[in-house]
Amino acid sequence: MPAPAPEGHARPPSVDSLAKSLAASGLPHGLLVEAAREAIAAGDPAGASARAAAIERSLLQPVINATGVLLHTNLGRAPLGAVESAAVATPLRYSSLEFDTRRGVRGDRHAHAAGLLARLCGAEAALVVNNCAAAVTLVLGALAAGRGVAVSRGELVEIGGGFRVPEIVAQSGARLVEVGTTNRTRRQDYEAAVDSGDVALCLRVHQSNYRIVGFTEAPAVGELANLGVPLVVDIGSGLLDEACQWLAGGPPPWLRGEPAARQTLAAGADLVTFSGDKLLGGPQAGIIVGNADLVTRCARHPLARAFRAGGLVLETLQSLALTYLHRRGDDIPFWRMATRPVAELRSRAASIGVGEVRDMAATTGGGTLPGVEIPSAGIVLPGDRAGALRDHEVPVVARVAGQQTFLDLRTVDPADDGMVAAACRTSVAGGGA
Ligand SMILES: *Cc1c(COP(=O)(O)O)cnc(C)c1O
Repeated sequence: MPAPAPEGHARPPSVDSLAKSLAASGLPHGLLVEAAREAIAAGDPAGASARAAAIERSLLQPVINATGVLLHTNLGRAPLGAVESAAVATPLRYSSLEFDTRRGVRGDRHAHAAGLLARLCGAEAALVVNNCAAAVTLVLGALAAGRGVAVSRGELVEIGGGFRVPEIVAQSGARLVEVGTTNRTRRQDYEAAVDSGDVALCLRVHQSNYRIVGFTEAPAVGELANLGVPLVVDIGSGLLDEACQWLAGGPPPWLRGEPAARQTLAAGADLVTFSGDKLLGGPQAGIIVGNADLVTRCARHPLARAFRAGGLVLETLQSLALTYLHRRGDDIPFWRMATRPVAELRSRAASIGVGEVRDMAATTGGGTLPGVEIPSAGIVLPGDRAGALRDHEVPVVARVAGQQTFLDLRTVDPADDGMVAAACRTSVAGGGA
């Protein structure tokens, strides 16, 4: 029994009735009970709804990306939307993930999305795992465990979130054989490594998020194609084909120089690895494409079972691959965003009706194309409005520099412009800076 409330003070509400009063939040009762209990214990029952709101805010939720960084690692890298909806549209549905519907026997989860991705890259075979780090680890574990892997000293890179080439090589059970120098590595360096020791394969790693400029040299992929050991190229970013046939206007100028899976294989790579959620514009995944025997060796390695992609990812990738094969780049959210004309962004910015319309420079982000800018446009608000914009019902993530807040519209879905306008008006009306 609770003690009677002191004279003159309202008795605190019961935890249960306070929790019930928050039901409109839509959170499960158990979580609301926790919010109510904490609020009462803190002597602040009125604060229970703020605590419930904080729980809601801690959940995975949609956000509007107005940063102008297309592949924002904190915001899930490639935006999905249209390509994923087929995978989650029906509430109760099985799939033919590992079932051959024609013959009625066990099928292969690598037959669908992976087969289409292989076709898109002009490869014999493909395998899909959880991310590109897993793809590289699996390739090295399957093809080079206990043996040497030759890597140029200029490619011993770290790519966001702890993908460090020397550590990945060690983790896979292979031995790192460094070749060449930081700035210059030649075919002869790889040749000498292969001739002098037990080297299972040569690994090229795209520098991805930085550039070495000046007195530099690296052999073309084709120069390393006949060293007598497999050549594996980790291109990371996942551009399928330099020609970008899925874009009506062909490859945009800012893509120039980015390695693509199809051309890397055609030049002589035996295997190519890349991420699903960078320039491919899909879900988090790692893709291994290339020589069928080598892909099979990867698929048979025990790590393949641990790293394999799940049904939701494979369905989304299949839908994405079909969209590429249809050459409908406009239906792939990443490519649609990346190729909108600046004039269109300017006129959208003007229609927002708050702040000042300004030309901006968007970036691909996600550890791709360092220093490359995509012409863009958006709006500038006076002062630092980032917190107020994040407080909007659907949080709007903007960029602050020099006491101004920048909202780049290239990364905003036009359907969300109304919400961006509302968030901007509220943030400006809130005063402060
Ligand atoms: C991004 C990148 C990776 C890591 O990819 P994840 O899918 O994030 O694991 C590996 N290698 C290269 C060259 C990359 O650019």
